[in-house]
Amino acid sequence: MTAVQSRAESTITVHNPATGAVSGTVPIDEPETVAAKAAQLVAAQPEWEALGPTGRKRWMLEWQGWILDNADRITEVLISETGKSHVDASLEAVATADAIAYWATHAKEFLADRHPKAHSPIYRVKRFTTAYRPYPLVGVITPWNFPFAMPGLDVPPALAAGAAVLLKPSEVTPLSAVEFVRGWAEIGAPPVLGLTTGYGETGQAVIEHADFLQFTGSTATGRKVAVACAQRLIPYGLELGGKDPAIVLADADLDRAANGIAWGGLFNSGQVCVSVERVYVEAPVYDEFVAKLAARVGEVQQGQDGDTGAMATEAQRDIVARHVDEATAAGARVVTGGKPTGVGTYFAPTVIADVDSSMTCMTEETFGPTLPVIKVADENEAIRLANDSPYGLSATVWTADKRRGERLARRLEVGAVNVNDALVNVFCPGLPMGGWKESGIGYRAGGASGIIKYCRQQAITTPRLPTQKSELLWYPSSKRRMAMTLAVMRAFAARGRRRFGLRPRNG
Ligand code: NDP
Repeated sequence: MTAVQSRAESTITVHNPATGAVSGTVPIDEPETVAAKAAQLVAAQPEWEALGPTGRKRWMLEWQGWILDNADRITEVLISETGKSHVDASLEAVATADAIAYWATHAKEFLADRHPKAHSPIYRVKRFTTAYRPYPLVGVITPWNFPFAMPGLDVPPALAAGAAVLLKPSEVTPLSAVEFVRGWAEIGAPPVLGLTTGYGETGQAVIEHADFLQFTGSTATGRKVAVACAQRLIPYGLELGGKDPAIVLADADLDRAANGIAWGGLFNSGQVCVSVERVYVEAPVYDEFVAKLAARVGEVQQGQDGDTGAMATEAQRDIVARHVDEATAAGARVVTGGKPTGVGTYFAPTVIADVDSSMTCMTEETFGPTLPVIKVADENEAIRLANDSPYGLSATVWTADKRRGERLARRLEVGAVNVNDALVNVFCPGLPMGGWKESGIGYRAGGASGIIKYCRQQAITTPRLPTQKSELLWYPSSKRRMAMTLAVMRAFAARGRRRFGLRPRNG
């Protein structure tokens, strides 16, 4: 049973992958429908931009209130289309409310005009302004692993910037996005947040009309999205796959490391772009750590009322099973778990020991509740193996020495490193969130740059002095004025004798 079982002519039927129950239906929008929705959003955008950050903040905080008031219902909808546990699902509405507050309250400061100083005295006669003007329509394409929180990461900063947004959720989990957009409509906010549902073709149609495209999903689809954006010459941000390493050093608190890595690897059944996907442990503590990790993972309860839930699709469960089977066939040892439970799309939380770096569980994104562990001689080997990946999303380092942790962080080729913790950076929009290498392009958050990315920067110059009839370089051209202008520019740009058109004495 997959989450999306049937494709009627014009609707998608959504199923709960844990039980097979039908959860709802959404329309499949044809390209003409997407075009019409985009046109309506673009028509409404100028008024939204004109409200300014303070006017927009009012609507965004009202929307935040609606989300918090409806958090229980949103959680139920999430469970019904993902098979998540209640604890995993309940985080999404509140985390989204937190992000909305951040962008709504900081937008005024982040979008304020900047007035850069003139780089040369010649230009001090001008007042310089950098203004931030939103892209009219931002397209946001989101995956199925966090159907409410993923739009919650990308839509609020775009709205706060003054853009209109057209959201296209995954075909597997569109119902939470319906709630996300319903909240905006129910508070009576300006019609600048729209929803379009359907398959990949609907996503392609969004790209056809967007002025900026923010995408989260697989590296393979991200590449296609990048090509489509390049053809239209529109900018984009991509948040893609990962294979995040954890490095456990011999001086680490092994109980904390085992607890943190278990959570970082199994949260949301491992269907997190930044989940811990491979673990490197220094040899002296390898056996002890594997035992502690296996004990922790073995205690994890699955089910709607447990710690963690089902996989979002059968296909995803099958990838996890393949990675485990290929590892054991090549000599790795399953310490706990290792199999689908046989119920819905559940896969038992798994620890695999004695893994080697060539196994698919170490090279391909698993996106499931598995923790393959490998023994390393020292920190240098750990760093070398951790960096030996096409992905570069995030990593964790576990050590009693915080300085050593930070030092190792700076040697890792990834966009984020948590020392003695996991996933925490994702909940902090003041920090950049962006994948290096094949894990993405652009930064999703990160304070001012997380909102400025949804803006076109505009340079404005205005005279400081009373205006003249003409300027030095204007027509009619004059050799004398040109020579004078060049001499002044040279005098301010160059150093030493070159300022006066002379060569250096020793030159
Ligand atoms: P995809 O990357 O295929 O899908 C992500 C989103 O892109 C969905 O909304 C999808 O719509 C849409 N889409 C698909 N094709 C196109 C296209 N040509 N143009 C525009 N939009 C398109 O992810 P999958 O669901 O297939 O997952 C595959 C793998 O990706 C997983 O196994 C996992 O490894 C990784 N993944 C990574 C995530 C992350 O957070 N970095 C999140 C989810 C998955 P639709 O679903 O309707 O086809």
